[in-house]
Amino acid sequence: MGTVSESGVVDAVNKELFLGGKWTPASEGRTFAVTDPATGEVLCEVADATAADGMVALDAAVSAQESWAQCPPRERGEILRRSYEALMARQEELALLMTLEMGKPLAEARGEIAYAAEFFRWFAEEAVRIDGGYAVAPNGSGRFLVTKQPVGPSLLITPWNFPMAMGTRKIGPAVAAGCTMIVKPAAQTPLSMLALARILADAGLPDGVLSVLTTSDAGGVMEPLIRDGRARKLSFTGSTGVGRRLLEQCADKVLRTSMELGGNAPFLVFDDADLDDAVEGAMAAKMRNIGEACTAANRFYVQRGIADEFSRRLTERMSSLPIGRGTEDGVVVGPLIDEAAVDKVSALVADAAQRGADVLTGGATVDGPGNFYQPTVLTGVPTDARMADEEIFGPVAPITVFDTEEEALAAANDTEYGLVGYVYTSDVKRALRVSERLETGMVGLNQGVVSNPAAPFGGIKQSGLGREGGTVGIDEFLETKYVAVSL
Ligand code: NAP
Repeated sequence: MGTVSESGVVDAVNKELFLGGKWTPASEGRTFAVTDPATGEVLCEVADATAADGMVALDAAVSAQESWAQCPPRERGEILRRSYEALMARQEELALLMTLEMGKPLAEARGEIAYAAEFFRWFAEEAVRIDGGYAVAPNGSGRFLVTKQPVGPSLLITPWNFPMAMGTRKIGPAVAAGCTMIVKPAAQTPLSMLALARILADAGLPDGVLSVLTTSDAGGVMEPLIRDGRARKLSFTGSTGVGRRLLEQCADKVLRTSMELGGNAPFLVFDDADLDDAVEGAMAAKMRNIGEACTAANRFYVQRGIADEFSRRLTERMSSLPIGRGTEDGVVVGPLIDEAAVDKVSALVADAAQRGADVLTGGATVDGPGNFYQPTVLTGVPTDARMADEEIFGPVAPITVFDTEEEALAAANDTEYGLVGYVYTSDVKRALRVSERLETGMVGLNQGVVSNPAAPFGGIKQSGLGREGGTVGIDEFLETKYVAVSL
């Protein structure tokens, strides 16, 4: 990639399948279109993998596994380190590519490239810290040797909302642990992953360690690979509905699984909160990625004493956000991913309004082309509104007033999801009490963004299984082996 023009960055991506280290057309020669959600125009065509292509990738991953596991940890780490540097060196081109296929504003795309790259830097450092143990058995007569080994060939499935970071968050620890892998990016955003495959290959990743399958038939290609039994691990990021189905498929051959699924984050603001901070945090938690984030604040619960002022300030901020194509200067709100997303957001807002919520700003689509929805604030959203249960995945902030801490916690925890919750308060005791009682894997305490490659990211309840990032992230790709030693 040399030039930072729109056509230049798209042209520079290899649109074939990356199978066992070779760029290859799909076996039946088919392709599918990638479109710009801001214009509806086709950006390019990419190879459309079949189940047979999937098997070629699996054969390659299986045959490369043993030698890859022997590759010294330092070398694995250095491949990641070089890839981190390449990502940062190409941040501008890769950000533009991501904005074109996904829609997020360029500033956010640049932020995602840096965030994505950081997973590689972090896991480059973790590759050389895989630990083990040696201990005396309790009866004194034997010894325990404990070591960690790569899980084996891994299947990685990623969503469209963070096309690069959801890939590096899995590829980083898999490479560090010594696993081979097959990545299936979302059909709507395959270009970032194809660009990443080239970066990893250029950084010295041996042939067969990584394959990338772009396909319009996710189930048809991935299910045979899951059921084959030679892949030993599935790491999935996506919706809870698809995650459930994949868990069933994994049960057949008892695959190790990591599941990063949907969210329905509550955002709690207490009377004693710093209101400036709370509004700033609310904007970040709601509007990062145009609201299309699993961590997006989905329900705002605000204590009665400051509810009116919070709503007024949030409305002022939301109504002044520039909407447009993510490539345009100053744009903060890009398009949603597709028409179905706009229809879903519209239906959720109509449902809440019909049940008595007031629309303080927004509440409508934006005339096309493109899939735009206005930043929206709703107050008086009743607890039986659909958006209290479902991921909105768009720029809509529903506010509900509460009186007591107990009431706020009960409402916050009344969901099948448990990814993240946000708490704004200046009372230290309340902060810790509420953080402990929120049924979530993560809490943003007076902070609207929690994601950090050095921290364990993940959910409880139906938001998932396992953690990505942090010191535990690599464990998802390692098995513990115990050797009983007789002296
Ligand atoms: P999705 O529809 O579940 O798709 C995610 C991935 O799974 C895509 O690559 C998709 O391929 C693939 N897929 C779909 N059906 C499949 C099947 N039957 N077998 C194998 N793969 C299949 O989710 P999405 O709409 O792309 O992403 C949004 C969701 O992801 C939201 O629920 C969000 O909360 C969640 N998410 C969670 C996290 C987290 O860390 N917890 C992070 C980001 C997003 P196609 O694109 O071809 O359909």
